[in-house]
Amino acid sequence: VAQRLVIVGGDAGGMAAVSQVRANNDAIEIVALEKGHWTSYSACGIPYVLSGEVDDIESLVARRPQEFRDRHGVDVRMRHEAAAINLDERTVEVRDHGHDRTYRLGFDHLLIATGAAAQRPAVEGCNLPFVHDVRTLDHAVALQPVSAASMGTNVVIVGGGYLGVELAEAMVHRGANVALVDRNLEVMKSLDPDLGAIVTKEMRHAGVNAITGAVVEAIEPGTVHTSSGPVSADLVLLAAGVKPNSALAEAAGLRLGAADAIWVDRRQRTSAEGVWSAGDCSASVHRVSGRPMWIALGTHANKQSRVAGINIGGGYATFPGVLGTAITRFGDLEISRTGLNQAEAAGAGFDATATTIEATTTAGYYPGAQPMTVRAVVERGSGRLLGAQIVGGAGAAKRIDTCAVAITAGMTVNDIVDLDLAYAPPFAGVWDPVLVAARAAMKVG
Ligand SMILES: Cc1cc2nc3c(=O)[nH]c(=O)nc-3n(C[C@H](O)[C@H](O)[C@H](O)COP(=O)(O)OP(=O)(O)OC[C@H]3O[C@@H](n4cnc5c(N)ncnc54)[C@H](O)[C@@H]3O)c2cc1C
Repeated sequence: VAQRLVIVGGDAGGMAAVSQVRANNDAIEIVALEKGHWTSYSACGIPYVLSGEVDDIESLVARRPQEFRDRHGVDVRMRHEAAAINLDERTVEVRDHGHDRTYRLGFDHLLIATGAAAQRPAVEGCNLPFVHDVRTLDHAVALQPVSAASMGTNVVIVGGGYLGVELAEAMVHRGANVALVDRNLEVMKSLDPDLGAIVTKEMRHAGVNAITGAVVEAIEPGTVHTSSGPVSADLVLLAAGVKPNSALAEAAGLRLGAADAIWVDRRQRTSAEGVWSAGDCSASVHRVSGRPMWIALGTHANKQSRVAGINIGGGYATFPGVLGTAITRFGDLEISRTGLNQAEAAGAGFDATATTIEATTTAGYYPGAQPMTVRAVVERGSGRLLGAQIVGGAGAAKRIDTCAVAITAGMTVNDIVDLDLAYAPPFAGVWDPVLVAARAAMKVG
């Protein structure tokens, strides 16, 4: 009898596994349950739909259900929600929303990829109709016409992380009056505060009313009440963080890990035999600190799912953990980070120093040269690079990938200085800013 794999969740964490399973195992039956209306889409593109830079929402869909059916023989069941998992019986209780019925589905392997959900501030008024989560393609469908008509209206964004910054850019692009509320003194709390300050300043320069060091206390029609006073609001976009959708797994008795995400080992195995997890619902390990970690990023979801798929198909693969390498932009300002920031390095027990240099995105004399700041977080004594942050003009932030490679390879600043990086005046100075930062860090020791 053919074995059956049941996948719960039809986005990256679930569906990236499919081709890997199939590459190793033609015989296994694959059933994919997705409670929503879409499979394999780029939520990352949503801010650019809202800004109007991307017109066609459906272009964000990488693979539709029919493609999985035709190419990989997957029985994709849309609007089917896994309501409960019984590990003893090895069954999933499925709610079929289309036909208003419930049934049980047996499994030999189960891949839980339920993703993450927006975290809503625990304040009155969050359920008002002008308050929106920005998480799924359905949210984007609902918000596209609202954002297109937002010129001159008052938009309040709650949260100043990656999503909040991207939404602020989108709504500025639309010509809205944008206010952004963040509990920290600077936006982008994943950066050290002084680098976050560069972003806060740029947002204010672009006309965003960045209300920092403040929390939302209540929302009522037309107004968001913050601890710094009331702000007018025709539209509220929530970007106050996400939490892993791990309740289904927890109720089944699976072990949870960092941030209550589903605990997995290096092969994406959960605490139960034959049950796997990948993507935003599952925990990971930080490659520098070695500590349990949960970061919800599309890059990780795809890789973890690939690893799960290879293993489920009978192969062998491991996921080595994450650096949390991430990138975004606000207008012309690019922002990126990888590894540990100063506070994280100290929290992980490292004796670390931080070195910051100012450079330009191209040779200083080349037309259009933009300032950029590079921060290197380095272990004292060994000189090993632990983390980096970059904020600057066009072409600045993707340099973080050089730093991510260096951290992964365990390179010290002495090693980095010797890297043979590319140079011509339109791209960099003769010493690339990453090398300049490494040189400066060598002096600090
Ligand atoms: C606006 C936005 C911008 C982003 N930008 C970036 C970026 O620039 N770079 C980056 O790396 N990452 C970015 N991300 C994060 C990235 O989109 C996620 O990490 C990625 O989508 C995770 O994929 P996933 O499959 O694990 O989870 P999800 O995308 O959350 O998918 C989980 C799926 O499971 C389904 N599901 C949940 N529970 C059940 C159930 N019980 N039964 C059946 N189905 C269920 C859900 O309907 C959903 O379709 C962004 C996210 C958002 C929202």
